[in-house]
Amino acid sequence: MRVLILAGTAEAAALAGACAARRGIESICSLAGRIRVPGPLPGELRVGGFGGVDGLVEFLEARTIDRVIDATHPFAAQMASHAEQACRRARVPRLRLLRPPWRRRPGDRWIEVPDFAEVARRLRGLGRRALLTVGQRDLDAFTGIEDVRLLIRTIEPPARLPTATSLWLGGRGPFALEDELALLREHAIDVLVTKASGGEATSAKLAAARALGLPVLMVRRPEPPPGPLVQSVAEALAWLDEPQPCPAGRST
Ligand code: NAP
Repeated sequence: MRVLILAGTAEAAALAGACAARRGIESICSLAGRIRVPGPLPGELRVGGFGGVDGLVEFLEARTIDRVIDATHPFAAQMASHAEQACRRARVPRLRLLRPPWRRRPGDRWIEVPDFAEVARRLRGLGRRALLTVGQRDLDAFTGIEDVRLLIRTIEPPARLPTATSLWLGGRGPFALEDELALLREHAIDVLVTKASGGEATSAKLAAARALGLPVLMVRRPEPPPGPLVQSVAEALAWLDEPQPCPAGRST
């Protein structure tokens, strides 16, 4: 069975490792190629966009892909939608592997918002020194918010900072609670901004914010496309073990 794994997450790497250890499964991992991904991705690796839905349909057909597991990040909404459409067209069974969201705990002061525009609107009312743990492409919404000092933590340095007083900090999880507490204290952070990404590697900032009583502006996840969805690598492997119906394909 030839499986295309849409990757770029720790779950995708774990899945590729598990597939490599199984007889009868040949995996191809695909990365967008915008950020460096840590650790090995066993099996074949391809890098770069497919060229939209048409490009992905072509790839699925040319490489005779039997199954697709979309293990991209919960906020990779465009890739998830393209995968759903392409697999429907090429009649290839597809599964969305989506890590579980974080759960609110007593003491959390989360304010869930639909997008970064809403974060930017609410930020001033909540604090003066914000830690932004977001993606490079999310920064545009913060342009012009000069009266809140932004400490921006991303994996790669952003092409430009959104305000004159912004500070950039490179960082890739996993992050430890003591380090997150020290960072919040050192910069006198009074509000945290994050996407509702979920996952253990980056959850310590939420525990640190809870411990210090800080508000957290959290952007909600986009809706996943319709179709089967699991939350763990074990469930994804079980899905590979079962016969799966082909998607219905084009309605016209
Ligand atoms: P996106 O907005 O949903 O996708 C934009 C375009 O990038 C897609 O249309 C596709 O180009 C290409 N692409 C995305 N993921 C790809 C993959 N795994 N293989 C080949 N092409 C891919 O995605 P994104 O949010 O920029 O995320 C890009 C990558 O970074 C993903 O692998 C994701 O798992 C990872 N990531 C994202 C976030 C986040 O917060 N968004 C965080 C951590 C890691 P074509 O249309 O040309 O096929």
